[in-house]
Amino acid sequence: MDGGVVVGIESTAHTLSIGSVDDKGSPAASFSAFYRPDEGGIHPREAADHHAEQASSLVKQLLQSGITPDLVSAIAFSQGPGLGPCLRVGASVARALASKWGVPLVGVNHCVAHIEIGRQQCQMDDPVLLYVSGGNTQVIARMGDRYRVLGETLDIGIGNMLDKFARGQDLPFPGGPKIEKLATSWREENMDASLDDYSLPYAVHGMDLAFSGLLTAASRLVKRGAQLGAVCWSLQEHAFAACIEVAERAMAHTGKTELLFGGGVACNQRIKQMGEIMAIERGAKSNAPAPQFCVDNGSMIATLGRLQVLNDGGISYESSAVNQALRTDETPISWS
Ligand code: AMP
Ligand code: MG
Repeated sequence: MDGGVVVGIESTAHTLSIGSVDDKGSPAASFSAFYRPDEGGIHPREAADHHAEQASSLVKQLLQSGITPDLVSAIAFSQGPGLGPCLRVGASVARALASKWGVPLVGVNHCVAHIEIGRQQCQMDDPVLLYVSGGNTQVIARMGDRYRVLGETLDIGIGNMLDKFARGQDLPFPGGPKIEKLATSWREENMDASLDDYSLPYAVHGMDLAFSGLLTAASRLVKRGAQLGAVCWSLQEHAFAACIEVAERAMAHTGKTELLFGGGVACNQRIKQMGEIMAIERGAKSNAPAPQFCVDNGSMIATLGRLQVLNDGGISYESSAVNQALRTDETPISWS
Protein backbone atom coordinates (compact mmCIF):
# COMPACT_ATOMS: atom_id res chain seq x y z
CA MET A 1 0.00 0.00 0.00
CA ASP A 2 1.28 3.50 -0.78
CA GLY A 3 0.10 6.48 1.28
CA GLY A 4 -3.51 7.48 0.77
CA VAL A 5 -6.58 7.59 2.92
CA VAL A 6 -7.66 4.59 4.99
CA VAL A 7 -11.42 4.37 5.62
CA GLY A 8 -12.65 2.67 8.82
CA ILE A 9 -16.08 1.17 9.52
CA GLU A 10 -17.31 0.63 13.07
CA SER A 11 -20.43 -1.43 13.81
CA THR A 12 -19.82 -3.47 16.97
CA ALA A 13 -22.95 -2.37 18.85
CA HIS A 14 -25.27 0.69 18.85
CA THR A 15 -23.09 2.89 16.63
CA LEU A 16 -22.54 2.64 12.90
CA SER A 17 -19.69 4.98 12.05
CA ILE A 18 -17.51 5.62 9.01
CA GLY A 19 -14.30 7.57 9.45
CA SER A 20 -10.89 7.95 7.90
CA VAL A 21 -7.24 8.79 8.43
CA ASP A 22 -5.10 10.70 5.93
CA ASP A 23 -1.77 9.55 4.50
CA LYS A 24 0.02 10.76 7.65
CA GLY A 25 -2.33 8.78 9.91
CA SER A 26 -4.21 11.83 11.13
CA PRO A 27 -7.89 11.03 11.87
CA ALA A 28 -10.80 13.04 10.44
CA ALA A 29 -14.19 13.45 12.13
CA SER A 30 -16.36 10.35 11.64
CA PHE A 31 -19.88 10.16 10.21
CA SER A 32 -22.02 8.26 12.70
CA ALA A 33 -25.57 7.01 13.23
CA PHE A 34 -26.74 5.81 16.64
CA TYR A 35 -29.32 3.12 17.25
CA ARG A 36 -31.55 4.05 20.19
CA PRO A 37 -33.89 1.31 21.42
CA ASP A 38 -37.49 2.48 22.07
CA GLU A 39 -37.32 0.66 25.38
CA GLY A 40 -34.98 -1.77 27.11
CA GLY A 41 -31.44 -2.55 26.02
CA ILE A 42 -29.93 -3.07 22.57
CA HIS A 43 -31.78 -5.63 20.44
CA PRO A 44 -28.98 -6.96 18.17
CA ARG A 45 -31.23 -7.64 15.15
CA GLU A 46 -32.91 -4.23 15.37
CA ALA A 47 -29.54 -2.51 15.75
CA ALA A 48 -28.27 -4.40 12.68
CA ASP A 49 -31.36 -3.33 10.68
CA HIS A 50 -30.69 0.26 11.74
CA HIS A 51 -27.07 -0.01 10.56
CA ALA A 52 -28.11 -1.54 7.22
CA GLU A 53 -30.59 1.32 6.66
CA GLN A 54 -28.03 4.02 7.54
CA ALA A 55 -24.96 2.63 5.74
CA SER A 56 -25.47 4.16 2.30
CA SER A 57 -26.22 7.60 3.73
CA LEU A 58 -22.99 7.54 5.78
CA VAL A 59 -20.92 6.42 2.77
CA LYS A 60 -22.51 9.29 0.81
CA GLN A 61 -21.53 11.76 3.54
CA LEU A 62 -17.94 10.46 3.46
CA LEU A 63 -17.77 10.92 -0.32
CA GLN A 64 -19.30 14.40 -0.07
CA SER A 65 -16.61 15.35 2.47
CA GLY A 66 -14.05 15.06 -0.34
CA ILE A 67 -12.84 11.49 0.16
CA THR A 68 -13.27 10.20 -3.37
CA PRO A 69 -12.60 6.50 -4.18
CA ASP A 70 -9.32 7.29 -6.02
CA LEU A 71 -7.84 8.71 -2.76
CA VAL A 72 -8.64 5.58 -0.72
CA SER A 73 -5.91 2.96 -0.26
CA ALA A 74 -7.58 0.50 2.16
CA ILE A 75 -10.89 -0.25 3.91
CA ALA A 76 -10.73 -1.30 7.56
CA PHE A 77 -13.63 -2.67 9.61
CA SER A 78 -14.30 -3.89 13.17
CA GLN A 79 -14.00 -7.68 12.95
CA GLY A 80 -14.89 -8.14 16.65
CA PRO A 81 -15.68 -8.29 19.49
CA GLY A 82 -19.32 -7.20 19.35
CA LEU A 83 -22.86 -8.19 18.47
CA GLY A 84 -22.85 -10.67 15.56
CA PRO A 85 -25.66 -9.15 13.45
CA CYS A 86 -24.20 -5.64 13.83
CA LEU A 87 -20.64 -6.76 13.03
CA ARG A 88 -21.87 -8.54 9.90
CA VAL A 89 -23.42 -5.34 8.50
CA GLY A 90 -20.14 -3.41 8.89
CA ALA A 91 -18.13 -6.28 7.41
CA SER A 92 -20.46 -6.52 4.40
CA VAL A 93 -20.19 -2.79 3.71
CA ALA A 94 -16.39 -3.01 4.02
CA ARG A 95 -16.14 -5.98 1.64
CA ALA A 96 -18.38 -4.25 -0.89
CA LEU A 97 -16.36 -0.99 -0.83
CA ALA A 98 -12.97 -2.77 -0.91
CA SER A 99 -14.08 -4.86 -3.87
CA LYS A 100 -15.65 -1.94 -5.78
CA TRP A 101 -12.72 0.40 -5.19
CA GLY A 102 -10.08 -2.32 -5.69
CA VAL A 103 -8.22 -1.75 -2.41
CA PRO A 104 -7.10 -4.07 0.44
CA LEU A 105 -9.55 -5.10 3.16
CA VAL A 106 -8.34 -4.98 6.79
CA GLY A 107 -10.16 -6.60 9.74
CA VAL A 108 -9.32 -4.96 13.06
CA ASN A 109 -9.85 -5.66 16.75
CA HIS A 110 -12.21 -3.02 18.18
CA CYS A 111 -10.55 -2.98 21.63
CA VAL A 112 -7.08 -2.56 20.14
CA ALA A 113 -8.44 0.32 18.02
CA HIS A 114 -9.42 2.17 21.22
CA ILE A 115 -5.82 1.79 22.41
CA GLU A 116 -4.15 2.91 19.20
CA ILE A 117 -6.30 6.03 18.67
CA GLY A 118 -5.67 6.92 22.32
CA ARG A 119 -1.91 6.38 22.08
CA GLN A 120 -1.80 8.55 18.99
CA GLN A 121 -4.08 11.34 20.27
CA CYS A 122 -2.47 11.52 23.71
CA GLN A 123 1.06 10.90 22.42
CA MET A 124 1.65 8.02 24.79
CA ASP A 125 4.27 5.37 24.26
CA ASP A 126 3.48 2.38 26.45
CA PRO A 127 0.40 3.05 28.60
CA VAL A 128 -1.87 1.01 30.80
CA LEU A 129 -5.27 1.42 29.14
CA LEU A 130 -8.42 1.71 31.22
CA TYR A 131 -11.03 0.76 28.64
CA VAL A 132 -14.44 1.69 30.03
CA SER A 133 -17.25 1.39 27.51
CA GLY A 134 -20.84 0.17 27.27
CA GLY A 135 -20.08 -3.53 26.84
CA ASN A 136 -16.44 -3.70 27.95
CA THR A 137 -14.42 -2.86 31.03
CA GLN A 138 -10.80 -3.92 30.81
CA VAL A 139 -7.38 -2.94 32.10
CA ILE A 140 -4.92 -3.61 29.30
CA ALA A 141 -1.15 -3.34 28.88
CA ARG A 142 1.29 -4.33 26.17
CA MET A 143 3.55 -7.29 26.87
CA GLY A 144 5.77 -8.18 23.92
CA ASP A 145 3.67 -8.56 20.77
CA ARG A 146 0.24 -8.55 22.45
CA TYR A 147 -1.98 -6.26 24.44
CA ARG A 148 -2.76 -8.34 27.54
CA VAL A 149 -5.91 -8.03 29.63
CA LEU A 150 -4.71 -7.69 33.22
CA GLY A 151 -8.15 -7.24 34.72
CA GLU A 152 -11.74 -7.01 33.46
CA THR A 153 -15.37 -7.10 34.43
CA LEU A 154 -16.67 -10.52 35.39
CA ASP A 155 -20.26 -9.58 34.55
CA ILE A 156 -21.51 -6.44 32.74
CA GLY A 157 -19.59 -3.50 31.30
CA ILE A 158 -19.50 -0.33 33.41
CA GLY A 159 -21.39 1.66 30.74
CA ASN A 160 -24.14 -0.97 30.57
CA MET A 161 -24.40 -0.81 34.35
CA LEU A 162 -24.83 2.99 34.25
CA ASP A 163 -27.34 2.73 31.37
CA LYS A 164 -29.36 0.05 33.20
CA PHE A 165 -29.45 2.04 36.42
CA ALA A 166 -30.58 5.11 34.47
CA ARG A 167 -33.28 3.15 32.64
CA GLY A 168 -34.68 2.00 35.99
CA GLN A 169 -34.99 5.70 36.93
CA ASP A 170 -36.73 6.59 33.63
CA LEU A 171 -33.68 8.45 32.36
CA PRO A 172 -33.26 8.12 28.58
CA PHE A 173 -30.44 6.15 26.90
CA PRO A 174 -27.50 6.63 27.13
CA GLY A 175 -27.69 7.01 30.89
CA GLY A 176 -24.01 7.70 31.63
CA PRO A 177 -24.03 11.42 30.74
CA LYS A 178 -27.34 12.01 32.65
CA ILE A 179 -25.95 10.27 35.73
CA GLU A 180 -22.85 12.45 35.53
CA LYS A 181 -24.97 15.63 35.41
CA LEU A 182 -27.17 14.58 38.34
CA ALA A 183 -24.13 13.47 40.36
CA THR A 184 -22.20 16.69 39.72
CA SER A 185 -25.02 19.07 40.58
CA TRP A 186 -26.03 17.11 43.69
CA ARG A 187 -22.41 17.02 44.89
CA GLU A 188 -21.98 20.78 44.33
CA GLU A 189 -24.87 21.39 46.68
CA ASN A 190 -23.81 18.72 49.20
CA MET A 191 -20.06 19.10 49.59
CA ASP A 192 -20.20 17.89 53.20
CA ALA A 193 -22.02 14.64 52.42
CA SER A 194 -20.26 11.41 53.33
CA LEU A 195 -20.10 8.31 51.12
CA ASP A 196 -20.77 6.28 54.28
CA ASP A 197 -24.36 7.51 54.14
CA TYR A 198 -24.75 6.13 50.60
CA SER A 199 -22.56 3.07 50.90
CA LEU A 200 -22.59 0.54 48.03
CA PRO A 201 -20.74 -2.75 47.45
CA TYR A 202 -17.18 -2.39 46.18
CA ALA A 203 -16.67 -3.84 42.70
CA VAL A 204 -13.05 -5.07 42.93
CA HIS A 205 -12.37 -8.83 42.81
CA GLY A 206 -8.59 -9.28 42.77
CA MET A 207 -7.58 -7.73 39.44
CA ASP A 208 -11.14 -8.08 38.12
CA LEU A 209 -14.32 -6.06 38.54
CA ALA A 210 -18.04 -6.81 38.82
CA PHE A 211 -20.85 -4.27 38.53
CA SER A 212 -24.18 -6.06 38.79
CA GLY A 213 -24.18 -6.07 42.62
CA LEU A 214 -23.52 -2.34 42.56
CA LEU A 215 -26.42 -1.84 40.14
CA THR A 216 -28.86 -3.76 42.34
CA ALA A 217 -27.73 -1.99 45.52
CA ALA A 218 -27.95 1.48 43.93
CA SER A 219 -31.47 0.83 42.61
CA ARG A 220 -32.44 -0.36 46.11
CA LEU A 221 -31.05 2.83 47.69
CA VAL A 222 -33.35 4.94 45.53
CA LYS A 223 -36.33 2.72 46.37
CA ARG A 224 -35.56 3.25 50.06
CA GLY A 225 -35.95 7.00 49.54
CA ALA A 226 -32.40 8.32 48.93
CA GLN A 227 -32.21 11.28 46.54
CA LEU A 228 -31.46 10.25 42.97
CA GLY A 229 -28.58 12.75 42.70
CA ALA A 230 -26.97 11.34 45.84
CA VAL A 231 -27.19 7.79 44.54
CA CYS A 232 -25.77 8.83 41.13
CA TRP A 233 -22.86 10.45 42.96
CA SER A 234 -22.23 7.40 45.14
CA LEU A 235 -22.59 5.04 42.18
CA GLN A 236 -19.96 6.97 40.21
CA GLU A 237 -17.60 7.21 43.18
CA HIS A 238 -17.77 3.47 43.90
CA ALA A 239 -17.64 2.24 40.29
CA PHE A 240 -14.88 4.62 39.19
CA ALA A 241 -12.72 4.09 42.30
CA ALA A 242 -12.83 0.34 41.63
CA CYS A 243 -11.62 0.83 38.04
CA ILE A 244 -8.86 3.23 39.11
CA GLU A 245 -7.71 0.83 41.84
CA VAL A 246 -7.25 -2.03 39.35
CA ALA A 247 -5.55 0.30 36.88
CA GLU A 248 -3.18 1.48 39.60
CA ARG A 249 -2.29 -2.09 40.53
CA ALA A 250 -1.64 -2.83 36.84
CA MET A 251 0.73 0.16 36.68
CA ALA A 252 2.51 -0.97 39.85
CA HIS A 253 2.95 -4.55 38.55
CA THR A 254 4.11 -3.60 35.07
CA GLY A 255 6.15 -0.52 36.02
CA LYS A 256 4.38 1.52 33.31
CA THR A 257 4.02 5.23 33.92
CA GLU A 258 1.17 6.29 31.61
CA LEU A 259 -2.57 5.82 32.19
CA LEU A 260 -4.68 6.09 29.06
CA PHE A 261 -8.50 6.13 29.02
CA GLY A 262 -10.68 4.75 26.24
CA GLY A 263 -14.37 3.95 25.69
CA GLY A 264 -17.49 6.07 26.09
CA VAL A 265 -17.37 6.23 29.90
CA ALA A 266 -14.03 8.04 29.52
CA CYS A 267 -16.11 11.10 28.48
CA ASN A 268 -16.89 11.40 32.21
CA GLN A 269 -14.98 14.20 33.96
CA ARG A 270 -14.97 12.51 37.38
CA ILE A 271 -13.32 9.25 36.28
CA LYS A 272 -10.67 11.25 34.42
CA GLN A 273 -10.10 13.38 37.52
CA MET A 274 -9.67 10.25 39.67
CA GLY A 275 -7.19 8.88 37.13
CA GLU A 276 -5.21 12.11 37.25
CA ILE A 277 -5.07 12.12 41.06
CA MET A 278 -3.83 8.51 41.08
CA ALA A 279 -1.26 9.18 38.35
CA ILE A 280 0.11 12.31 40.05
CA GLU A 281 0.51 10.41 43.32
CA ARG A 282 2.62 7.82 41.47
CA GLY A 283 4.63 10.34 39.47
CA ALA A 284 2.86 9.11 36.32
CA LYS A 285 0.77 10.70 33.53
CA SER A 286 -2.94 10.28 32.80
CA ASN A 287 -4.86 11.35 29.73
CA ALA A 288 -7.92 10.64 27.59
CA PRO A 289 -8.58 11.38 23.93
CA ALA A 290 -11.27 13.96 23.00
CA PRO A 291 -14.83 12.58 23.45
CA GLN A 292 -15.34 11.95 19.69
CA PHE A 293 -12.40 9.52 19.84
CA CYS A 294 -13.48 7.91 23.15
CA VAL A 295 -16.90 6.76 21.95
CA ASP A 296 -17.07 4.15 19.18
CA ASN A 297 -16.02 5.84 15.93
CA GLY A 298 -14.91 4.88 12.44
CA SER A 299 -11.71 6.93 12.55
CA MET A 300 -10.23 4.77 15.32
CA ILE A 301 -10.85 1.71 13.14
CA ALA A 302 -9.09 3.51 10.27
CA THR A 303 -6.18 4.40 12.60
CA LEU A 304 -5.56 0.76 13.54
CA GLY A 305 -6.35 -0.39 9.97
CA ARG A 306 -3.58 1.86 8.65
CA LEU A 307 -1.04 0.44 11.12
CA GLN A 308 -2.02 -3.10 10.17
CA VAL A 309 -2.03 -2.63 6.43
CA LEU A 310 1.35 -0.82 6.51
CA ASN A 311 2.91 -3.58 8.63
CA ASP A 312 1.07 -6.76 7.68
CA GLY A 313 -0.94 -5.97 4.50
CA GLY A 314 -4.64 -6.68 3.99
CA ILE A 315 -6.64 -9.85 4.62
CA SER A 316 -8.37 -12.21 2.19
CA TYR A 317 -12.16 -12.23 1.88
CA GLU A 318 -12.09 -15.84 3.12
CA SER A 319 -10.60 -14.72 6.44
CA SER A 320 -12.87 -11.69 6.83
CA ALA A 321 -15.63 -13.43 8.83
CA VAL A 322 -16.55 -11.54 12.00
CA ASN A 323 -15.62 -12.89 15.44
CA GLN A 324 -18.08 -11.84 18.15
CA ALA A 325 -15.81 -13.09 20.93
CA LEU A 326 -12.48 -11.76 19.61
CA ARG A 327 -10.17 -11.16 22.59
CA THR A 328 -7.84 -8.20 22.97
CA ASP A 329 -4.81 -10.52 23.26
CA GLU A 330 -5.64 -12.54 20.13
CA THR A 331 -4.37 -9.76 17.86
CA PRO A 332 -0.60 -9.76 17.22
CA ILE A 333 0.96 -6.27 17.41
CA SER A 334 3.78 -5.83 14.89
CA TRP A 335 4.36 -2.06 15.30
CA SER A 336 5.99 -0.05 18.06
P1 AMP B 1 -19.10 3.03 23.87
O1 AMP B 1 -19.68 1.66 24.17
O2 AMP B 1 -17.60 3.07 24.05
O3 AMP B 1 -19.56 3.64 22.59
O4 AMP B 1 -19.65 4.01 25.02
C1 AMP B 1 -21.02 4.13 25.31
C2 AMP B 1 -21.19 4.15 26.82
O5 AMP B 1 -20.54 5.32 27.36
C3 AMP B 1 -22.63 4.22 27.26
O6 AMP B 1 -22.83 3.21 28.22
C4 AMP B 1 -22.78 5.61 27.87
O7 AMP B 1 -23.71 5.68 28.93
C5 AMP B 1 -21.37 5.87 28.37
N1 AMP B 1 -21.07 7.29 28.53
C6 AMP B 1 -21.04 8.26 27.59
N2 AMP B 1 -20.78 9.46 28.14
C7 AMP B 1 -20.64 9.25 29.49
C8 AMP B 1 -20.37 10.10 30.61
N3 AMP B 1 -20.21 11.41 30.47
N4 AMP B 1 -20.31 9.52 31.83
C9 AMP B 1 -20.48 8.19 31.98
N5 AMP B 1 -20.74 7.35 30.96
C10 AMP B 1 -20.82 7.87 29.72
MG1 MG C 1 -15.97 0.60 22.19
